[in-house]
Amino acid sequence: MYDVLSSNANSFIDDAEITASLEEGKSRAADNSLVASILNKAGSFKGLSHREAAILLEVTDLNTLEKIYSLAKQVKEHIYGRRIVMFAPLYLSDYCVNACTYCGYSLKNKEAARRRLTREELLEEVRLLEKMGHKRLAVEAGEDPVNCPLDYVIDCIRAIYSLRCENGAIRRVNINIAAAAVEDYRRLKEANIGTYILFQETYHKPTYLDLHPQGPKHNYEWHAEAHDRAMAAGIDDVGVGVLYGLYDWKYDTAAMLMHAEHLEAARGVGPHTISVPRLRAAPGMTRENFPHLVSDAQFKHLVAVLRLAVPYTGIILSTREASDFRGEIIAVGVSQISAGSCTGVGGYAGSAKLERDASLIQFEPEDHRPPMEVLKELLRDGYVPSYCTACYREGRTGDRFMSLAKSGQIANICQANALLTLQEYLEDYGDYELKELGDLVTQREIDEMPDKNARKVTLEMLSRIKGGERDLRH
Ligand code: SF4
Ligand code: SF4
Repeated sequence: MYDVLSSNANSFIDDAEITASLEEGKSRAADNSLVASILNKAGSFKGLSHREAAILLEVTDLNTLEKIYSLAKQVKEHIYGRRIVMFAPLYLSDYCVNACTYCGYSLKNKEAARRRLTREELLEEVRLLEKMGHKRLAVEAGEDPVNCPLDYVIDCIRAIYSLRCENGAIRRVNINIAAAAVEDYRRLKEANIGTYILFQETYHKPTYLDLHPQGPKHNYEWHAEAHDRAMAAGIDDVGVGVLYGLYDWKYDTAAMLMHAEHLEAARGVGPHTISVPRLRAAPGMTRENFPHLVSDAQFKHLVAVLRLAVPYTGIILSTREASDFRGEIIAVGVSQISAGSCTGVGGYAGSAKLERDASLIQFEPEDHRPPMEVLKELLRDGYVPSYCTACYREGRTGDRFMSLAKSGQIANICQANALLTLQEYLEDYGDYELKELGDLVTQREIDEMPDKNARKVTLEMLSRIKGGERDLRH
């Protein structure tokens, strides 16, 4: 039975409640005045319940859909401004004891030779990522307690933080590794991780069990309750996600919102991020075997509804989406994107350098552009690419972050920090065209800053960065 406060995943993600929400959505989505009142609520940045979101997920009227898209953009810009946070994944190890049917790292993929980064290779990957301008990483690894134990992951995190490169260092290491026990999460917390990210993949239990036929990940409850254990261990920021295409997109969206409601009710703060990867081809699998693939239109619809439902949560879009489609999705509420990603172990250095014929990839990305090209497009579209990591480093995590977000103050902090980190990028990595685009956007943002004092302080900091100082932040 549904219980948002339960510690049992089968209760806080109760199948009957999801099904009833979707049924209610179907029967009420044509009620224009109801839909208008839900949009009205979303427009006041109060978020939506999973029941309300389920109604919006059933909307088919094109005019109403357009209203949902433009409202999602407004909500994102009201809370976070025009900044888009940049990051890159870093794969440590492709050993895995699980057999997820959609993943290139599956144990069943027997032909692939497995590897994990040596210390030297790790440092080389980080140097290359830093050379691309990255300051924020999402560290990823398959699950294998023998070949990739937690000690190894923690050593890697410490090595990443300690490396000083030509233009600075990696400032935030988010972690995307398998569900773990509370004591392991405590160790990750001590290693100063940023957000702990774990995708449920699908919340539909029979499908989940089918797609994860063996290994520890087969345990649905252990996986779905992992964020609770991480928060119990003191990790303030956790991220959730669905791999869209494994099961019905409406079911998984409503269920993910129930998961968010559970974390907020039971732990006092909802997820810091929501990731929306879509299924891509990977070694050993093709998408034809998956009957629930999500179309571009459905994907845009669900991202916009998520933005309205959880206005204070970061929404992360990866390079799984094609470059020409990413802009359309960013416009409906995405706040973080990856750029220049490699999805194989040692991928940034390249297989030749690592004396390896071919790097096993977890999935095939669609957007292969280098970060500089992605930044140019963002700037042309009016966004401010941001390499900011300030909140985590200033202790603004968990409920401290959420209270700033809910009071409407985070947009000002984000805007100033985005400009500072953009200026660093322009100085250290930018070509002529990027500098021109960056200067124009910076000037516009400065002109539009409502607070005179903030404008003055930001201008002073920008000039210090032009003078050679780095890592200034609000
Ligand atoms: Fe392993 Fe993760 Fe891939 Fe599953 S999705 S096979 S757990 S790396
Ligand atoms: Fe993120 Fe905080 Fe920086 Fe805004 S100011 S981009 S919320 S770290």
